[in-house]
Amino acid sequence: QLSKRLKTVARYLQKPISFADIGSDHAYLPCYVCHDNPESFAIAGELNEGPYLSAKKEVCVNELEEQIEVKLGNGLEVIDDRIAQVVIAGMGGPLIANILEEGKMSLTSVSRIVVQPNIEARAIRKWFMSNDYNLVEEAILEENGHYYEILVADKGNGRENYDENSLEKQLWLGPHLLKEKSIAFQLKWTDAKNKKLNIIKQMQQSTNPDREKIKAFEREIRWIEEVLN
Ligand code: SAM
Repeated sequence: QLSKRLKTVARYLQKPISFADIGSDHAYLPCYVCHDNPESFAIAGELNEGPYLSAKKEVCVNELEEQIEVKLGNGLEVIDDRIAQVVIAGMGGPLIANILEEGKMSLTSVSRIVVQPNIEARAIRKWFMSNDYNLVEEAILEENGHYYEILVADKGNGRENYDENSLEKQLWLGPHLLKEKSIAFQLKWTDAKNKKLNIIKQMQQSTNPDREKIKAFEREIRWIEEVLN
């Protein structure tokens, strides 16, 4: 049974589907998508030998070798011009942004990018904005006590969904998520606020508290309160 997180990622792939799943691990996502849609094609890319072998095995067990190519390689170097959509899920935002930046020459045929950062989605929103990918949709969900954000971007105007006056806040919290303010969004940021309050308390108790850091945290807490109230 595929996780709710990856099922939600799959929902944002557009038919006809030809996509690359970068950092595919067991290739669960491409197997699920290609099993459900016999006309789809996928490349499962993996940097490391262990997960690469797990992906190969999963594809073989599911008899999906005709639809899924498993490739060993770093980031976007595994894709070619058959690929119209790219998924990068389950890593930190800065790592995902770095994979996109390093491989951006390979994105010429890619019209849609779907990412699911575990932390720091802001790094990817910034990358989309500076590289002409329009952030068209966002989702947030809770699974097993974790909150996951999913960002969907199509080639186009990278600034389209932002407002110059609240750019920093939108990059941080997500322009669409901010508008929608779903229950999962509210819970995630209430949790984040409480964690930040605890960190400030600990910092203030230290002999040489970092005033600048405390100020930055306090500003973020104010933003969260503004948004949630
Ligand atoms: N995408 C799956 C998911 O969301 O469940 C697996 C996430 S797993 C935590 C991250 C995977 O990315 C690991 O299998 C790791 O080997 C792979 N990875 C890390 N950096 C990579 C890179 N630069 N290129 C390709 N794969 C990478």
